[in-house]
Amino acid sequence: MEFQTKLIHGNWQGDDKTGATNVPIYYSNAFAHQSAKELENIFIGRDAGYVYSRIANPSVEVFEKRIAAIEGGVAAVATASGMSAIYLTLMNLLKPGDEIISSSGVFGGTYNLLKNLQDYHIHVKFLDNLDAAVLKHEVSEKTKVVFAETIGNPKLDVLDIEAVGEVCREQSIIFIVDATITPPYLIKPIEYGADIVIHSTSKYINGNSNAIGGIVVDGGSKKYSEDKFTGFKHYTKRFGRFAFTAKLRNEIGKDIGAVMSPMNSFLNLVGIETLALRMRAHCENAVKLAEYLSQHPKVTEVNYPLLKTSKYYSIAQKYYSKGASALITCRLGSKQNAFDFIDHLKLISNLVNIGDAQTLVVHPASTICVNNTQEEKVQMGVFEDLVRISVGIEDYKDILEDIDQALKCL
Ligand SMILES: *Cc1c(COP(=O)(O)O)cnc(C)c1O
Repeated sequence: MEFQTKLIHGNWQGDDKTGATNVPIYYSNAFAHQSAKELENIFIGRDAGYVYSRIANPSVEVFEKRIAAIEGGVAAVATASGMSAIYLTLMNLLKPGDEIISSSGVFGGTYNLLKNLQDYHIHVKFLDNLDAAVLKHEVSEKTKVVFAETIGNPKLDVLDIEAVGEVCREQSIIFIVDATITPPYLIKPIEYGADIVIHSTSKYINGNSNAIGGIVVDGGSKKYSEDKFTGFKHYTKRFGRFAFTAKLRNEIGKDIGAVMSPMNSFLNLVGIETLALRMRAHCENAVKLAEYLSQHPKVTEVNYPLLKTSKYYSIAQKYYSKGASALITCRLGSKQNAFDFIDHLKLISNLVNIGDAQTLVVHPASTICVNNTQEEKVQMGVFEDLVRISVGIEDYKDILEDIDQALKCL
């Protein structure tokens, strides 16, 4: 199947019993079985089947399989949020004494989560510039995980996935890529060497901002060696390339229970059918708006990876031939200007979200990053005069008109 067809038909082609074309929403906590033996067999993994929705649910499973199919992974686990997807992934891999190397340009919530893991003696090293040369220099025996976003939110730094993946391959380090900003229509990081791909499905995958959720896509890595990842011992033997997912489902996933609800899976499956169409429209509007803003006298700096003036232009061209998503940041000279600009917008909403059909703005320094120190904000590419725009799929003329009139008020 081609990509767009997979979005609609991948891994599930209608309900056999009723002919329903949309996935039935199985709102059932538990699933009954004919005999005690049958239930035992499911519990010990001899037979496939459902027992309890904290462990698996048929509606959620359709969403998981569809994402695995479109990302090119061997399996996927849907979670209650993007943050829980990140937390479960890290906890599935790490033990006290281990080290994570992360880009400092990651999402504010992720930055704080990583920082807080230090309370559990998991050490975190943030790198302002996560490239292969720097990484080679920084890795140690304790480094188990490298974490980065395809395009950082809101720093908009572009990751050289292939080069970083190569270092991780040589050193048997698990390479986790948060691809929330760049869903599979734009890029499939597993093809470039990512071991695990994470999405906050709350953003572009859902597309309409009506369901918080996350997903962990397992690339089927063979790196989980017994000596380096001691907890994987039985899983690699028994499950081979599914070891990561098997362990996550059987241990931390089950222990924490941060599952996606059947309703949210349904909303995401409806949303994802139009992912490619939406991403084309998002990217088309974003390029035009970035070019317009870069010419505007009241805007002192514009960041968008596919602007010719961006320092990430050549790398963005390599990875994002279909578009570099639809986040733009711009600096307006002062915090007051940033606030005035936001306050004068009429069509565009001021809120902390991205990836919606609607165009959205936010002032990251006083919201998402309000609890970070000045030094951390700079590392994250956040300044007092910086505004982030998540460009929607409205007609470009209307987006432009609103931004133009708000800039005139400065
Ligand atoms: C929003 C976001 C998250 C967190 O996802 P939630 O669904 O809000 O928990 C993680 N990473 C990135 C890049 C995000 O934009």
